[in-house]
This record gives sequence, structure tokens and C-alpha cells, in this order.
Amino acid sequence: MAQVTLENLEKSFGNVKAVDGVNLKIKDKEFVSLLGPSGCGKTTTLRMIAGLEDPTSGDIFIDDQRVNDLPPKDRNLAMVFQSYALYPHMSAFDNIAFPLKLRKLSKTDIEKRVNEVGTLLGIKNLLSRKPKELSGGERQRVALGRAIVRKPKVFLLDEPLSNLDAKLRIYMRTELKRLQKDLEVTTIYVTHDQIEALTMSDKIAVMNEGKLLQLATADSLYNQPVTSWVGNFIGSPPMNLIECSFKIENGIAVLDAGEFKYKINKSLSELIEKNSKSNNVILGIRPEDIKIHLKNPPKDAIKLKVYEIEPIGDSVIVDIQNQGNIIKSRVPRSQSKSGDSVNIHLDPERIHVYDKKTDKIIF
Ligand code: ATP
Repeated sequence: MAQVTLENLEKSFGNVKAVDGVNLKIKDKEFVSLLGPSGCGKTTTLRMIAGLEDPTSGDIFIDDQRVNDLPPKDRNLAMVFQSYALYPHMSAFDNIAFPLKLRKLSKTDIEKRVNEVGTLLGIKNLLSRKPKELSGGERQRVALGRAIVRKPKVFLLDEPLSNLDAKLRIYMRTELKRLQKDLEVTTIYVTHDQIEALTMSDKIAVMNEGKLLQLATADSLYNQPVTSWVGNFIGSPPMNLIECSFKIENGIAVLDAGEFKYKINKSLSELIEKNSKSNNVILGIRPEDIKIHLKNPPKDAIKLKVYEIEPIGDSVIVDIQNQGNIIKSRVPRSQSKSGDSVNIHLDPERIHVYDKKTDKIIF
């Protein structure tokens, strides 16, 4: 059982700052994903925790012990890579048994543990096979088996499902999550796949350009992203980001983006006045929070031109044009409309406002 703490963790490769001042606490038994685009520093962070990379500065703690100077083998962690990294000349049994042999356990104990793990992972009848005689999913299980067999304090998983086909990946997602809950092992999981992170994790650490932007549950990441970048990164289609200037017109506060003019109430206008120096803000709204009114639009509906309609099965995405930009609304199929224009209405409870300069959340 273990808690992992990163304090002001930094790693530079020459003049590339791969990890830039990350502070992160992963609680005992928690499943935390590091999520972000390619090159944002996820793997480097994981490798520093594993001891495979030395931090340029900052500290890593496992429970209360600072482990910066501990070699990987003494950190009691197990890492599973995307490539599985199995020994090709050894059977699945010997691959799984390998960490136990290194620790010089008795033959009887090794057999007992490997068979337990084989049963747990549903590969007991495959243990005599070599890796090349196994499917991708089975190889992945052997790699997981090798990681869990010695009951490590922490699992470090680096895109472990990305070599599997789409169907198997979905299946293994559930399996891995269940396994982690059964074993109650603190787990740090690197992925660039938001669905994987959102479905599996207790919390998700979103990274970009070496920085940790937000650590939150899937729910609050989706509903309360702290920057417009995070809002746009999570969700498909992503959150609409509409660049607006904040104005008072005839005594009424509006967020103005050309034809798109959105009236706001007094408390929001006061918040913007207080928190945005330039009065340039980004209004964020998810596609499902923009309603389309075909008849009797409410007073504060905004009329805009329809650009395109995209059916996606149970609903449709209506692409709406505003000054050369597209605003996406996701509505039930019955509300789909082709042709000229539509009246849209933004759910006032669901809008987010960010300062354009700092990208910090105002509301
Ligand atoms: P991906 O999802 O593509 O694996 P990542 O988020 O895991 O990306 P890292 O592999 O941690 O990103 O890389 C972060 C940055 O550090 C990148 O710009 C990368 O090119 C750079 N980098 C990583 N390892 C090294 C290295 N050994 N030498 C030089 N630069 C490196």
C-alpha cells in the first residue's frame, strides 16, 4: 500500500523542459491517469517515478520516503510498457516467475504464486506457451502477470493497451480496472486516450507542455475544466470556445463575438470586470448545452446560419456559422435542421468564461 507524491518535479533534456514543476499527490489505492497530447511529459514523469530517469530538480516520495536516490529495484514498483517487453525465449510461466526467481523464492512458492496470478488473469492454461504463440491480449496479460506477481506497492502502466485492437482494448479496460480494485494497488496510468482515462481512473491528471493543468475526477474534469484548453481537450466533439469581447451595450452586459451576442447577468459581468484586464474572454460551452429552437425561440435566443449537419447515430451535430468559426450543437435527431438558420440558446448554468490572456477560469 502506498501513496506517491511529486513535489516541483522537473526534467530537462538539453533545452527541452519535458516536465515543468509538477506537484501531484496520488493517494493509497488510487488509480490516477496522466493524460495529455503527445510529448507533454507523461512518460518522462512515469519514468522518473520508476527511477529510470533522474529528475533535474524536485522530489519524489513513496509514502514518507524520498526515493530520488533509490535505484529502481528498491522502489518496489512494477512497470508495464506498451511493448510488453516479454522475454521471447521464455514461456509465459517463466516470464511471470522471473521477478520471483530474482528474489530467490523457493520453487514451490514460485509455482504457487504464478499459478494464482495465471488464474486471476485467465491465462492458466497458456502458461507453457512462448510469447510468439500468444495473441496480443494474452501477451498483455502475461506482462501484467509479471508486474503483479511480486505484489508491488505501485503499478506504473505506460499505454499498456495501445497495441491491442479496438474491441480488445475496451474489454481489457474493464478487466484492468477490476484487477486494480481487487488488488488495491496504487496505480499510475499513462495514456493519450481520453476515453481510457475517463472510464478507468479515480482521478485524471491532465498535462500539457510539461505542466500539470488539472487533477480531477472524470466528472469534474468534464463539467468544471479550469482552463479552456482542458475544456477543449476533453470531450468529443470538444467544448466550443468562442472568443468574445465583454461590452456594455445600452446598459446591458454582453459577450460579443460578431453575430453571436450573448447577454449576461450582473453577477457574471461583475466577475469579468474584476478578473479580466483586457475584457477579452473565451466563452466555453459544450455542444450538448446549446439547444436549438425550431419554433417559438426564447427572447434571448441567438439566430445564426447553419453550415452543416452531421448525423452521429442517436443524435446530430449541427455546425453553426459565426464569423468564419463553427459552433457545434449536439441535439436529438428530431431537432436536426438543414438549410438556412437556427435559433440557439445556451444553457446559462452550463457556460464557462475564461480570461483570454491567462486562460484562467472566471466563471
Ligand atoms: P507520448 O504520448 O508521445 O509518448 P509523452 O507525453 O509521454 O508523449 P515524453 O515522452 O515524456 O512525452 O516526452 C516529453 C518531451 O521530452 C518531448 O518533447 C520529448 O521529445 C522529450 N524527450 C523525452 N525523452 C527524451 C530524451 N531521452 N532525450 C531528449 N528528449 C526527450
